[in-house]
Amino acid sequence: MSRTPLPAPPADTDGVVDWVSHHLGDLASGDPTPSPTRGGQAAADAALDGFDVTGYARRRNGVLPLSARGASRLSPYIRHGLLTLPRVYEHVKSGPASDVEKFRDELLWQEYARQLYARMGSATRTSLRFAVRDEYPPGENPWDVEASCLQESWRELVDTGYLTNQARMWLSSHWTVRQGWGWRDGEDLFFRHLLDGSRAANRSGWQWTVGALTGKPYGFSRWQVEKRAPELCRRCPVSDACPIQDWPEDQRPEPRSMVDPRMRRDDDVETTAGPIDPRVEGRPEAVWITAESLGRDDPAMTAHADLPVVFVFDDALLRRLRLSFARLTFLAEALADLSLERQVQTYRGNVSETLADVGPVAATFTPVPGWRRISARVTIAATYPWPWLRRPHGGSITSFTAWSKSRASRR
Ligand SMILES: Cc1cc2nc3c(=O)[nH]c(=O)nc-3n(C[C@H](O)[C@H](O)[C@H](O)COP(=O)(O)OP(=O)(O)OC[C@H]3O[C@@H](n4cnc5c(N)ncnc54)[C@H](O)[C@@H]3O)c2cc1C
Repeated sequence: MSRTPLPAPPADTDGVVDWVSHHLGDLASGDPTPSPTRGGQAAADAALDGFDVTGYARRRNGVLPLSARGASRLSPYIRHGLLTLPRVYEHVKSGPASDVEKFRDELLWQEYARQLYARMGSATRTSLRFAVRDEYPPGENPWDVEASCLQESWRELVDTGYLTNQARMWLSSHWTVRQGWGWRDGEDLFFRHLLDGSRAANRSGWQWTVGALTGKPYGFSRWQVEKRAPELCRRCPVSDACPIQDWPEDQRPEPRSMVDPRMRRDDDVETTAGPIDPRVEGRPEAVWITAESLGRDDPAMTAHADLPVVFVFDDALLRRLRLSFARLTFLAEALADLSLERQVQTYRGNVSETLADVGPVAATFTPVPGWRRISARVTIAATYPWPWLRRPHGGSITSFTAWSKSRASRR
């Protein structure tokens, strides 16, 4: 049985919004409004070209006014493979040394999160060191309250699909450390809205906040807001009765009796990291891309410049995730942009069944559980290596520091 692809998403904003409403609207949550951050290779290239790392170390934690923000906002493009970590790492090389070092350190945090997820997979959901606490009561949202620091951050997340790292730490700490609610529902809510939402970095961010990766939960109180976004306190309607005036009580979770042994050692690094060289076992008829690999530099796409490209919106997965309309629009924009250069066939349905109809495909190995699961049911004629910033090692990944040390000792 052959399937009919969806019509190509149009490149203009109104057109792509209509396209998403028509073809994916029943899978989306929230208002049918796109993010001001556009998807696509052209937008990603422009964002990278426009990013100057000068001043990053001093300004990366700034939240408001907007002119005080030093963060790059490159994360949605990095998340979806429109900018690879090696390319971004290289881009900043001629900036001031301290800014380059700080920025590259953050890229390494992203790499660490990816490698943690590549090795541990869905175990990252069940907390790596600490027992999972109760989830939050359904229907409540501890951020949608009068305090400006919480409510405006929450609104920014919903309206733009982006938050600074500071604001992510505030919201996640309020949810877990102050309210005592389990992190997994909070992580899901972030994931629904963040254009850069990834299970790898989102989970490691939440686990960092609760102290699972450091042993020390991150406390959030008025002090940080006064320092990073003083205007929020000035216009806050509850400034005189600030609900976060003082540090939260230390709600250190119960330590687990044992750390998962795979956190200390990986006996099968090749499976975690994927192939080092291309593995060609047949003749592909198309290139399969996913939400991890929407960029021009995707190794499988580069190797097969003459083949059509296939993307499948995974119906069952998206029905479960209920991603924001803005997230789905960002993906559609990336496909629209890609189809200006390549023949792109976009489908909606079951991924492995759709690919079975397409025939043998070329694909880039992708270090996430969903790709591993689906790829096992697909005829992959040629597999290309994932563009790691640092190739994974088999040593400890119990923390960023442990991961970095193991890396250094293996050089
Ligand atoms: C609770 C919580 C949830 C998070 N969820 C995500 C997520 O779903 N996806 C995501 O990419 N990042 C996540 N982060 C990490 C970080 O907040 C974002 O990567 C960063 O804010 C993105 O904005 P930027 O590109 O302007 O960052 P910049 O400061 O300009 O950093 C440049 C790049 O470095 C990487 N980076 C920076 N900080 C971190 C970090 N702490 N951990 C991992 N990578 C980092 C990102 O790729 C980022 O684009 C989360 C952090 C927390 C505390």
